[in-house]
Amino acid sequence: MNISEFVDKTEAKCRAQFARIDETAYKNQKKVLDSFRTHKIALRHFAPTSGYGYDDVGRDTLNALYADVLDAEKAVVSPLIASGTHALTVALFAVLRPGDTMLSVTGEPYDTLHDVIDGKGIGSLREFGIRFESVDLKNDRIDSDAVKAAVKKLNPQWIFIQRSRGYNWRDALSIDEIAGAIADIRRYADCPVMVDNCYGEFVETVEPCAVGADLVAGSLIKNIGGGLAPTGGYVAGKAAYVDQAAYRLIAPGIGTEVGSYAAGYRLFYQGLFLAPHITAQAIKTSVLFGAAFSSLGYETMPAPDTDCKDIIRSIRFRTPEEVIAFCQAVQYSSPVDSFAVPEPWDMPGYDAPVIMAAGAFVQGASIELSADSPIRPPYVAYLQGGLTYEHGKIALAECLARIVNKE
Ligand SMILES: *Cc1c(COP(=O)(O)O)cnc(C)c1O
Repeated sequence: MNISEFVDKTEAKCRAQFARIDETAYKNQKKVLDSFRTHKIALRHFAPTSGYGYDDVGRDTLNALYADVLDAEKAVVSPLIASGTHALTVALFAVLRPGDTMLSVTGEPYDTLHDVIDGKGIGSLREFGIRFESVDLKNDRIDSDAVKAAVKKLNPQWIFIQRSRGYNWRDALSIDEIAGAIADIRRYADCPVMVDNCYGEFVETVEPCAVGADLVAGSLIKNIGGGLAPTGGYVAGKAAYVDQAAYRLIAPGIGTEVGSYAAGYRLFYQGLFLAPHITAQAIKTSVLFGAAFSSLGYETMPAPDTDCKDIIRSIRFRTPEEVIAFCQAVQYSSPVDSFAVPEPWDMPGYDAPVIMAAGAFVQGASIELSADSPIRPPYVAYLQGGLTYEHGKIALAECLARIVNKE
């Protein structure tokens, strides 16, 4: 196969989708810029702070920007939040109390939350007398009848929605679907909704809080950090809940009145400013990979021509060798550690060996081009990120060279 011809032809087929992605990026760029203007962002906001960080204007104003772009009343965003899992943990422990029940309506939550929910002897929600139950999706959709029955039976204090797909063969939820589910639940129950917003930011033109979510949480080394945020996470939503989250993150009664960052905040601001565009680059990369592999007969999720609702592309390979070759090609195509050759290994928390390709400037940042796969049937590789579409295109050619033209 002539790979560069094939990639160009595939790219041509993606033009209509690319135009829609550009339109979304344009609207989100305007939203972000408007917020920067409203808050009169200036050099002083980037300055390093130390110690308690009282009156840290960089920290406080970043919170305000995040609230705006996430369509929320208030936000706490911080380099002191170590990961998306940490942000979600802060949110969960902030609003749940002993005796409460959280009901997930998108099935089991993301792998790293399992210990948070019911780990033994490590301070999990269960050990504080908090139940976490879930209703599985039905044909990739929130099963509204089953949710209604579960709400009647369990009388939960909170509802949980995972926007992105996690390590599952399902598509992410659109904002419309989230809106519909929340509106539906509100008809018979008066309970607030928390959304795991990882990988969802800026994929559409509004965020979950615009359609009724009460609290969202996410990671800064995914979409919203724009590839520049060096670390961090956020919790955003209704002011009263965000205050609880700030108290849980720092200390009750203190919240985000303290918290300094000696490296300065410029990368968080600049990353947020770039995030709509960077997210679009990642989505275009995902669309190109989807179109290429599906035209070669591989099943991809979402299906080609379907608009993306997160930045991930799932590709179902036929053999472990293909998945491994795919991940190794992505690694070889990375700007950092291109010389490393990833192998499957027994990662803690997974029931099968996992192979991970990540040659990122920010360690583990999956807004940068990365791929991973548990080595077990049905041999699905999850590809995400790409700071530039051009980089995604180069990586695709390498993947094809190793999988299709391997002889
Ligand atoms: C990435 C992710 C998380 C959090 O993961 P971290 O690696 O801790 O940042 C949570 N939920 C979903 C759906 C994710 O994709």
